[in-house]
Amino acid sequence: AEGPDIDPSTGQAIPGKAKTRFNIVFVSSEVAPWSKTGGLGDVCGSLPPALAARGHRVMVIAPMYKEYKGTKALDLEIEILGTPISYYHLHERGVDWLFVDNPGCFQRPGGLYGDTAGTYGDNQYRFALLSQAALEAPLQLQLPGGRYGEDCLFIANDWHASMTAVYLAGKYRPHGVYSDARCILAIHNLRHQGVFPPGTFKTLGLPGNWYGSLEWQYPPHQRQGAYEEEGRAINTLKGGIITSDRVCTVSPGYAWEIQTPEGGWGLEGLLRSRAYALNGVLNGIDDEEWNPQSDPHIDTQYNGSTFSRGKAANKAALQRELGLPERPDVPLFGFIGRLDYQKGADLILAAAPWLLAQDVQLICLGTGESGLEGGMRWLENTYPDKARGWVGFNVPMSHKITAGCDLQLMPSRFEPCGLNQLYAMRYGTVPVAHATGGLRDTVLPFNPWDGTGTGWTFSPCTQEAFTSALANALQTFHAHPDSFHALQQRGLRRDSSWNKAAAEYEQIFEWAKFDRP
Ligand code: ADP
Repeated sequence: AEGPDIDPSTGQAIPGKAKTRFNIVFVSSEVAPWSKTGGLGDVCGSLPPALAARGHRVMVIAPMYKEYKGTKALDLEIEILGTPISYYHLHERGVDWLFVDNPGCFQRPGGLYGDTAGTYGDNQYRFALLSQAALEAPLQLQLPGGRYGEDCLFIANDWHASMTAVYLAGKYRPHGVYSDARCILAIHNLRHQGVFPPGTFKTLGLPGNWYGSLEWQYPPHQRQGAYEEEGRAINTLKGGIITSDRVCTVSPGYAWEIQTPEGGWGLEGLLRSRAYALNGVLNGIDDEEWNPQSDPHIDTQYNGSTFSRGKAANKAALQRELGLPERPDVPLFGFIGRLDYQKGADLILAAAPWLLAQDVQLICLGTGESGLEGGMRWLENTYPDKARGWVGFNVPMSHKITAGCDLQLMPSRFEPCGLNQLYAMRYGTVPVAHATGGLRDTVLPFNPWDGTGTGWTFSPCTQEAFTSALANALQTFHAHPDSFHALQQRGLRRDSSWNKAAAEYEQIFEWAKFDRP
């Protein structure tokens, strides 16, 4: 921390530049483009460079799931929780990207968190290792700009990195290390909490009297696993919530929802007790990856002024590629997302008989639960001239759908922030979304009377409410093309930049550092 950038003529902090320069350490189980299963990876790959551009020194630390090209081994090998680890480093986009290496722990033939047999049995240990390795990095690593040192601000992302906050409180601060450091817990999805049997506590290397920081008593109606039978379990995220200096989440709407019984997944009371230190900041989007003007995946690049032509060309190319009738006049709907309870793909399948009885086309892309993957195949087989259900994780196709469709479906039951609606709007594609969490914060409902709004929202999250929003969207598409065009333009012009989000994060850092109660 070096003090504010002050303009000597006005005495004010220079806009766009950080007031206080922080040494920031992001700890995350995934970081795009190296590792990603969803929004968490996107955020940890693009918020850090935005903070670096504002003048902070930023490090991101994640597991080395395979050998990453361009990374260099650092000259340090240490043992953490009985496992030898080393670090790999790359400086890019102003950020120190660090990867924790232990091939047995992290380099596995399956995915990041599991394989076809299910989630890995040692995930708790793997990510405790990551968290502890992250705390050692600023103390031990000699990087090109020198050591980061103790005056750091950690951002622990989701349950995987929650132990960073617990170790900081239980293993470092009591010994006078990291006294000036702070830790912010960033919750991207509260549904995943890292719940494990109480007996695993002894593998975590915490002093015995810290058991209570992780213990979580489940009320009877929330008990699921066998070890929760007595109501007792270790809840990693809970440990992060109580030991971090502040908690933040990925939208103001979600920050509020997780304090309610409907959205709190059992932790609502605890989160309410920390409401004074809980904020929501909307995610931005990676403007290099998601920019219709330079997107290498799409047929025709476009911007605000070449929008109509560009959009039409991408629509035609998408229809051609997927073997749908090449018609400019037919409304084309898209859906991209994990096929699970959260994303509400089942609502799309339920609405399909009505929706596809209209003159429309529908393209879905996703992977996930086998029942819903089967649903995608059913969709395509039942409506071969109108619908496609692509089962797979396909980044180029997700760009083509975002650019080529007129409307994007997001019937998520809950959505901490949601990125696809932001990408859609940036590409002039109009979202139809359940009014929840970050979707409610970002998709402003279309108001035909004063010509505002960027999409359609519905609530409650039922098939009826969803279909009626779809009917409204179709009505506007057909009967009021000018209004529809204006809606697209308003989406295109929305500021979803990380710079805006980074400035809001800075305020939270300031509170964490200087306003500590
Ligand atoms: P979540 O993190 O809950 O999955 P987000 O909307 O925050 O949801 O982020 C999802 C990210 O993953 C987006 O970048 C989206 O485009 C991408 N994505 C999801 N499913 C697929 C898929 N089948 N193919 C390509 N990209 C996908």
